[in-house]
Amino acid sequence: MARATSSNTEHVCFDRVLPRDLFRPQALAPPRGGRVRAIAPIGKTWMNGSVLHVRFLGGTPAQRALVREQAGWWTEVANLQFVFDDSPQAEIRIAFDPADGAWSYVGTDCRGIPSAEPTMNLGFTDGGTTAHEFGHAIGLAHEHQNPAGGIVWNEPVVIAALAGSPNFWDEATVRHNVLDKYRFDQVKGTQFDPESIMLYFFPASWTLNGVGTVANEVLSATDKSFIAGARMYPRPGPVVDDATALVVGAGTRTTASIGALGEEDLFTFTAATDGRYVIDTRGPTNVVMKLFGPDSPTALVAEDDDSGYAANARIARGLTPGRYWVQIRHAVAGGTGTYSIRVRLV
Ligand SMILES: [Zn+2]
Repeated sequence: MARATSSNTEHVCFDRVLPRDLFRPQALAPPRGGRVRAIAPIGKTWMNGSVLHVRFLGGTPAQRALVREQAGWWTEVANLQFVFDDSPQAEIRIAFDPADGAWSYVGTDCRGIPSAEPTMNLGFTDGGTTAHEFGHAIGLAHEHQNPAGGIVWNEPVVIAALAGSPNFWDEATVRHNVLDKYRFDQVKGTQFDPESIMLYFFPASWTLNGVGTVANEVLSATDKSFIAGARMYPRPGPVVDDATALVVGAGTRTTASIGALGEEDLFTFTAATDGRYVIDTRGPTNVVMKLFGPDSPTALVAEDDDSGYAANARIARGLTPGRYWVQIRHAVAGGTGTYSIRVRLV
């Protein structure tokens, strides 16, 4: 990545790619249909739900703490876990060699690297560099290589700038790391995202249209939605057998929480008698409630968004005896946190 001072424009991250990827053909045509942004080379994502172990090869306590913090930006939204246990089998191995720049292998390519060698180097950690490198480690490519991107490179200027310290790249390397774009059919994702953390700073002088980019220090909204989306690492919805049992009664509220955009919780209760039942949530969360039953988790009885207190959900229905399921789904960005749910016969 390039951190954004004009004296430091050579600080460019490059994804380490395996040799077979160096000579793949480049984009010829745009894809059909809409895409969402952020890009991931096909075939390099980890299995959804993976627990990835991390081993530090050096690093100060402060550097290690920074790694844990910024890696956590991704696991807040993606269905992945990092375990910092220095396991001998760790998939991600981080060195801190200041002479070797900042780089990472991409996604499952890490498994092809001998276990004594780093899969990531953090020679500098300014801004969001560490989160950027972890983006590579979980399978993301550079946003400036998005085939839907709008950067028009001044190629001789870029090649000359990166031929010097600290990169010392030859032209082929510059072409691969910066100038070439991924083929449309080799990446998932789309629409160039100028706020992506996977985009690095480039000075305007590197482009023919005089439009540079800014360094992004945090995950963008699209970074988050893409990594948590169906094509990357969505959190699976709870299955019926995992539903949390609710006791029907006025005095009983069950506490739960919504930790991420789009998350779902599932509850179940038994209606012992005919009657009017009220199910509601309380808390700062903004949720949508769906009620299914009786005795069928796919038969929708009712759905509600904001009938409850504030942005809470509330369903009141006459129900026949049987088993019911209540699905609580996070509704809007920001409306996460702890909430409680209650079902009672009125
Ligand atoms: Zn990078």
